[in-house]
Amino acid sequence: MFNREKQFNRKHQLTSKNQFDEKIQTALIARREKGLQRNTQVFSHLADNQISVSTSNSATESRPYINFSSNDYLGLARDPELISAWQQGLTQYGCGSSASPAVTGLSMAHQSLQAKLCEWLGYSRAVLFNSGFSANQALLFTLLDKHDHLVQDKLNHASLMEAGMLSPASMSRFKHNDVNDLSRKLTELSATQAKLVVSEGVFSMDGDIAPLNELSQQCQKHHAWLAIDDAHGLGVLGSSGGGITELSGIKPNILIVTFGKAVGLSGAAILCDESTGEFLNQFARHYVYSTAMPPAQAYAISHAITMIQQQAWRREKLAELSEIFHDSLSTLSGYRSTSTAIKPLICGNSQQAIDLSNYLKQKGMWVGAIRPPTVPANAARLRITLSSRHSQQQVLQLTQAIIQYYQLDANLRGQN
Ligand SMILES: *Cc1c(COP(=O)(O)O)cnc(C)c1O
Repeated sequence: MFNREKQFNRKHQLTSKNQFDEKIQTALIARREKGLQRNTQVFSHLADNQISVSTSNSATESRPYINFSSNDYLGLARDPELISAWQQGLTQYGCGSSASPAVTGLSMAHQSLQAKLCEWLGYSRAVLFNSGFSANQALLFTLLDKHDHLVQDKLNHASLMEAGMLSPASMSRFKHNDVNDLSRKLTELSATQAKLVVSEGVFSMDGDIAPLNELSQQCQKHHAWLAIDDAHGLGVLGSSGGGITELSGIKPNILIVTFGKAVGLSGAAILCDESTGEFLNQFARHYVYSTAMPPAQAYAISHAITMIQQQAWRREKLAELSEIFHDSLSTLSGYRSTSTAIKPLICGNSQQAIDLSNYLKQKGMWVGAIRPPTVPANAARLRITLSSRHSQQQVLQLTQAIIQYYQLDANLRGQN
């Protein structure tokens, strides 16, 4: 039976060429020619915060690298305590949730995660999603209709930009963290339009923090709602790791948090008031028509939150490493000081970023080069991320290699 089915499939495989073949080839060639191709590699995690990389290119043989590219800021993703929490969750709840939360997919584990998030972050409702990408789409698609207006920070994450463009609302973008520009944009709008302002809490490529106080004053003044995506602030900022809202003491109308970064797992939640939560439960298609996250995962996320709340040493360690990093590199022209775990080092054009990234790889450190269109033209950079799993020694090894690279580079230029 099984074999017959396989044969059947093969016999009926479609092979005819059409316009898609050409479109795909053209797009791939253009990307390669611009040097913007992304190569997905397979990573293995070793002890001591190191990774090894399997690559089809034999020139870069497999060797251990210190990982300065992950969003696992608190070192939870491979923490034995969290791993065993997920295992306990599996024993208790099984594997998949087997249905949408709107059908029979919502378990006690999901429910207690929702309650925990609400209590921690100070909201009445938490709506769970399988990813931050889908949470952002769900929010903007459900909330906005064609009479509404969306205003976004120019550097907002691709998931927010794309959702905004696909939504029926009109959209404008204000200059990054520029509240005066936001004010101008809001003033131009009609008083009858519903307005939503969206910003990241901590910007993923720059590591800087949104001016939440001023943003919320502007929103108040113009009767706009404020939504904050705190994917990179949760766990890292605030005395209990509650993120930008805990740090600033300001509660936006809507808060999006994700669990794939400092929380060490995967998934996301939208925090909001009672009726907005009910509205999303009723109408958000990414919620209603998608299988709920595995209950064991929800159980593990709850455990990770307890660890984040109680293990302040992780944030203290991060602050310590951040200081070492700052002291070593603050005189470099591409250096940007941040109070988060994200440390951009602006290099200029794509090739310069790739050269530095390759140099660090030779020295046993993995730091991704981030290039346009992810960041603006001529702002290609290394996106260095620190984690509480790094040792002081590892951070010094990184900063010394960067300094060495710039000295070599300056010497070369001096000779020309
Ligand atoms: C990573 C990220 C997302 C997407 O979250 P996923 O859970 O990875 O889909 C959304 N917003 C921001 C700001 C992010 O950095």
